[in-house]
Amino acid sequence: MNPIFAFVSCRFGVILFLGCLLSTGCSRPDTSDASEYAEFVFTNGSIYTGDSSKPWVSSIGISGGKLLYVGDEIGLRKVVASETQRYDLQGNVVLPGLHDQHVHALWGGLVYSGADRTKCVIPQGLAVDNFLELLQTCVSKATKSEWITGGQWDVLALGVNPHRELLDKISTDVPILLDDTSGHGAWVNSLALKMAGVDSETLAPSGGGVIERDASGEPTGVLWETAIDLVRNKIPLTSDNILRESLIWSLNEMLSHGITSFTEASNGFVAGSLKEAQLYSELAGEGVLKQRARLCLNWNWYSRDGTNLSVIENRKQYIGGRLNLDCVKIYLDGVPTEAHTAAMLEPYARTHKGSNEQTDSGSLVLEQSETNQAVIKFDKEDLSVKFHAAGDAAVRSGLDALEAAYKQNGSPSLRHSIGHSGFIDKTDLPRAYKLNATFEMSPYLWTPSPIANELAREVGAERAERAWPVRDAIDAKALVVAGSDWAVVPSVNPWIGIETLVTREQVGGSEKSFGKSQAISVLEAINLFTVNAAKHMNKEDRLGRIAEGMLADLIVIDRNPLDIPASEIHKIQVILTMIEGEVVYQK
Ligand SMILES: [Zn+2]
Repeated sequence: MNPIFAFVSCRFGVILFLGCLLSTGCSRPDTSDASEYAEFVFTNGSIYTGDSSKPWVSSIGISGGKLLYVGDEIGLRKVVASETQRYDLQGNVVLPGLHDQHVHALWGGLVYSGADRTKCVIPQGLAVDNFLELLQTCVSKATKSEWITGGQWDVLALGVNPHRELLDKISTDVPILLDDTSGHGAWVNSLALKMAGVDSETLAPSGGGVIERDASGEPTGVLWETAIDLVRNKIPLTSDNILRESLIWSLNEMLSHGITSFTEASNGFVAGSLKEAQLYSELAGEGVLKQRARLCLNWNWYSRDGTNLSVIENRKQYIGGRLNLDCVKIYLDGVPTEAHTAAMLEPYARTHKGSNEQTDSGSLVLEQSETNQAVIKFDKEDLSVKFHAAGDAAVRSGLDALEAAYKQNGSPSLRHSIGHSGFIDKTDLPRAYKLNATFEMSPYLWTPSPIANELAREVGAERAERAWPVRDAIDAKALVVAGSDWAVVPSVNPWIGIETLVTREQVGGSEKSFGKSQAISVLEAINLFTVNAAKHMNKEDRLGRIAEGMLADLIVIDRNPLDIPASEIHKIQVILTMIEGEVVYQK
């Protein structure tokens, strides 16, 4: 049961008891047909409906968790009874609740909640001296048997090539594993390599694994993709309490940014598929999970406990409350950074470090026939497939597999998505519409993340200019949604994503832009997070817009994104987040 929220807003100058609206103990309007009256109304606001025929209204009425009325104040009168509670928006803006279609909520919580004492949080973009200084502080607090994990580093910001010897200077007694900014690379010290038994003889594992080596064949301590697992498997498991505390922190963090619905893009890689599914299920059962959450279950990526397939098989037993497990994650490639693990149609602009090839174009993790077979199977089982597809060859491979499934099974009952869609060949753009597929974009990745700089260096300026081709995709009638990819990026704040979709510049505006030709309008950007996301989830009749009969998932924000310079959108603050008529966050 929701506690009574005594809502006192200096800004609004009104006092309301919103919590009452949400609990069964509320008294309904004294009328013979209570269902025709709102328990609660918002008035005097700028309410964005998402409906192109009438995009803005001033008031709404809510009853039973649904929108009973949407329109002007005159019409509102017919749903107001003596006991209806009023909330004067005083001109503030209401939007449909936001959907983050690609987030790693548990990972974000582990990195940023502070629940895990051994996590060494190092801000992205630090040069090597500052980086090692912070690492030193973390290591000095560790006990001898403890591992230090955390991050995140990137080669450009470090200014030197990461090497185990740099970490050995910090400690040879404490094993260290630090993630890079993409989440696809790790930097470890000599002790960690030794504990994992990785030496000059060790072969890189299949599935895109790379063990970087120096001229003499010794591992440098930099590992990519599946090669990380060789060391990661040796790290002691995080306790259930820390996992739980981290995820709850993460859920609240997302609510504070207006995220009412999210997709956990990779269930399993933090603590194992089974453990993560059980944790979500537990929180959903207790009502702690307020958001609508979809888990995309790892199929061919890392799971600590090796339970990927059994969790997919038994997924229905974890579904409940607002939790759904109707999505499977298939990794097609890696990242277009220095690792060159993203599969590109054309070779990278730079020679891969440690590679003898003059040019390489990355490679797919799976044979096309394997991908096709898996997608045909999952599609038939009414699972939504989310690909990890960063390079344009991976995007094409994903579309090819969706086409194979379409031919065999007909139109999908649940939409599938091409996750990241960093590069899309122009000839592939119209295929998404034809296949009822969705392009999921990562607007937080081009700024403020250092990944963008590294990416531009590796693929060359021309291709970087068309990275994440949001404009082209929308113009090709594709359904486009957005995801933060937190904790790959340092913040889950969706207003950063909305701003950078519009500006294609650094957060706050900058001379330098990233793919300016792919910029979209503010309303288009908001639609990615609302109506498009709902459509992707097959929930467009209940979510994503503010319309009569829809669920009351909405947010109140402190300024109108259309009335401020686009470079200030990231400053927008959420005043209130509501899910199905329940106030789940208030500033
Ligand atoms: Zn991701």
